[in-house]
Amino acid sequence: MKEGPFAEEGQHRCDNCGKAWTGPQLEGMDDFFERVTPGGVMPSGQCPGCGSLCFPVEKNEAAVEEVMAFVKGLKNPDSDAWLLDEVVHDAAAHAAATANNNGLQGQVEFLVEQGWAAKEIVKAIKDTQG
Ligand SMILES: [Zn+2]
Repeated sequence: MKEGPFAEEGQHRCDNCGKAWTGPQLEGMDDFFERVTPGGVMPSGQCPGCGSLCFPVEKNEAAVEEVMAFVKGLKNPDSDAWLLDEVVHDAAAHAAATANNNGLQGQVEFLVEQGWAAKEIVKAIKDTQG
């Protein structure tokens, strides 16, 4: 019997393969009560890729501070703007591909998460209608 997915908005990351998914992409969880520890973090669903449990990705202020503190210790902290250019591009491309693979609903959710207003999305759709 499957439970869930209990997907909320935003990204969910697989505990095993590390892939990120949007909520609607997650699968229901097999053997839910055997795999979840009472009092532990609630998984949001099952990875469509490898079948392991996925957990919501939360904004982690501590992680941002940790990385920024590391960057400040580098020799040329003023020329560091390019350091993660390629990594950010790849991460954004993966998020975009994930959204596109999830159809119109996933695409709309992606744009809303990026801060787009409903009006702007509707206008973008209208623009494609010629
Ligand atoms: Zn996985």
